[in-house]
Amino acid sequence: MKEFSVPKEIENIGEILVKGGYDAYLVGGCVRDLLIGEKPKDWDITTDAHPEKIQKLFPESVYENEFGTVGVKTRSEDPTLKVVEITTFRIEGTYSDKRHPDEVKFAKTIEEDLSRRDFTVNAMAINLKNKISNLKNDIVDPYSGQKDLKNKIIRTVGDAEKRFQEDALRMLRAVRFSAQLGFEIEKETQKAIKKNIVLLKHIAEERIRDEFQKLIMTSRSAEGAFTLQELGLLEYIIPELLEGVGCTQNKHHVYTVFEHNVRALEYATEKNYSFEVRLAALLHDVGKPRTKNGTGENATFYNHEMVGARIAKDALDRLRFPRDVVQRVRHLIRYHMFYYNVGEVSEAGVRRFIARVGVENIDDILNVREADRVGSKVPKAFPYKLRHLLFMIDKVRHDPVHPKMLAVKGDEIMRLLNIPAGPRVGDILFVLLEEVLDDPSKNNKEYLEEKVREFGALSPLELKKLADEGRKKKDLIEEGVENDMKKRYFVK
Ligand code: ATP
Ligand code: MG
Repeated sequence: MKEFSVPKEIENIGEILVKGGYDAYLVGGCVRDLLIGEKPKDWDITTDAHPEKIQKLFPESVYENEFGTVGVKTRSEDPTLKVVEITTFRIEGTYSDKRHPDEVKFAKTIEEDLSRRDFTVNAMAINLKNKISNLKNDIVDPYSGQKDLKNKIIRTVGDAEKRFQEDALRMLRAVRFSAQLGFEIEKETQKAIKKNIVLLKHIAEERIRDEFQKLIMTSRSAEGAFTLQELGLLEYIIPELLEGVGCTQNKHHVYTVFEHNVRALEYATEKNYSFEVRLAALLHDVGKPRTKNGTGENATFYNHEMVGARIAKDALDRLRFPRDVVQRVRHLIRYHMFYYNVGEVSEAGVRRFIARVGVENIDDILNVREADRVGSKVPKAFPYKLRHLLFMIDKVRHDPVHPKMLAVKGDEIMRLLNIPAGPRVGDILFVLLEEVLDDPSKNNKEYLEEKVREFGALSPLELKKLADEGRKKKDLIEEGVENDMKKRYFVK
């Protein structure tokens, strides 16, 4: 029998509820995590006390929403314990829109409350009436969740089809928990998912997004992505990825586009990279199927990074990911094809690359590229080049690569030329930076002030032309391997 310890904050809350004459149980994810010996991410308590009664017992509480959840603040340092949620036993009404229960009703017993929960392993409760040490008699487990925990199985509470018809998000949650816990989805539950998949179209994108993000952040994200595809769920999340299923590549690849994308995610996950890098890895080649040209070992995918960045943006917007996440992922995909070879790319080229992609994105771009490389199973001889690029980046890292780093600032330009703030100032800064990227020693006041006067004498059109030329100036490194090869070596 495992020994359990429950934090004293939780014991205290339980004691207050019990002394007040109410039932109190730990419930849901924390019970599951305790039973498998993992530290719960948060602690949920359920009780027969109604919200206003809970608030009376806990003056330092906040009534959070209409679902009968009261957040009790503790003085704990542990972030998982700062606010403990107490929810009144609930039973959900009918789900006529397959999305929200039509009404939330309070229930009288813990058994009723457990019956509304999604999976057997999530439908257990621990009675807080007694001091918790020997759990044997204190676990409420009407759906044999403990058995499924032992056998590592995700199984719905009650009839799977009915439960998915009530709330289709549960289908996605099944995959998320199977990845999070390393569990199999039980056969009937799988069948019910395949059969009811179209119901996912009723589910708000935000809810899908949140479960998808949790799935991507588990340590088994790649298995999860394969399962999403096998069960048919991916079609309702990022269908664009499905274009890569069965899409073969060329002599440089053994995997199909889809598998390669997922393998890149697998590597990004192994390295514990951020959510954005994981997403960018999963989507880095999403543009390949639409840009594929030719067949067999000589197939090409010119501009797939550009097309892919756009596809990713549209998909992530649709899922309502925050703007900054979308922008970042899009950017990482757009630049994942940078070309680098020792001796071929100058320091100015590396500086210009950093200026274009942003110094804050450099590490992530290299990480996506590494995920791409390792995720192709037949890594090319890149590590040496990569190491050299890192060396070059380090060498130029403190050189000016941003208008803010110039020896002359916008307000000085305005003063020198006696012009107001506006696009003209931006254009001048841009052309100045172009010069400094080529030669950082030009980043001094005298030289730049002279240049400001020189550029200031140009007509708006001439200046604009100069700035546009600069914007078009791309070094080898940014062009992307394939596009570059096309230009220089593609002779067939
Ligand atoms: P995690 O540790 O990842 O947060 P969790 O089990 O706490 O896992 P939550 O999504 O936080 O998962 O949900 C808390 C509990 O609420 C679940 O354990 C489950 O009992 C119940 N639950 C949540 N969402 C649903 C749903 N859509 N249908 C039925 N029960 C649900
Ligand atoms: Mg939770």
